[in-house]
Amino acid sequence: MKKLEHIGIAVQNLEEAETLFSKLLGTMPYKREEVASEGVITSFFNVGNVKIELLAATNENSPIAKFIEKKGEGLHHLAFEVEHIEEELHNKDQLGFQLINKEPKTGADNKRIAFLHPKSTGNVLVEMCQDKGE
Ligand code: ZN
Repeated sequence: MKKLEHIGIAVQNLEEAETLFSKLLGTMPYKREEVASEGVITSFFNVGNVKIELLAATNENSPIAKFIEKKGEGLHHLAFEVEHIEEELHNKDQLGFQLINKEPKTGADNKRIAFLHPKSTGNVLVEMCQDKGE
């Protein structure tokens, strides 16, 4: 893992959360992006070298809707940037971590992403992400 890339926070209402986090962080979100395949709309803040990603569900089958139903709003995942996501997935698998995604999928912010199951990572949902480049 190269570095902590962003922290994902599950929110019920994106507008309200953007207002709250703008006030808290003293900066405005720099973009919104929908990931239709995941049923989420995201909003990104830059805080130093780390981003904050707010995630709101766009339908009731969204993983974010299910997460909030179970655990409420709040910390959802930590995302680490990696150099070669397929390689990292293979390595993590070999090391005994449980993969949610065996293959990388398309995420927000021009990235290929894959998640590790929190059962195998101390109850922290971990995302690995690789920039798609141009
Ligand atoms: Zn993320």
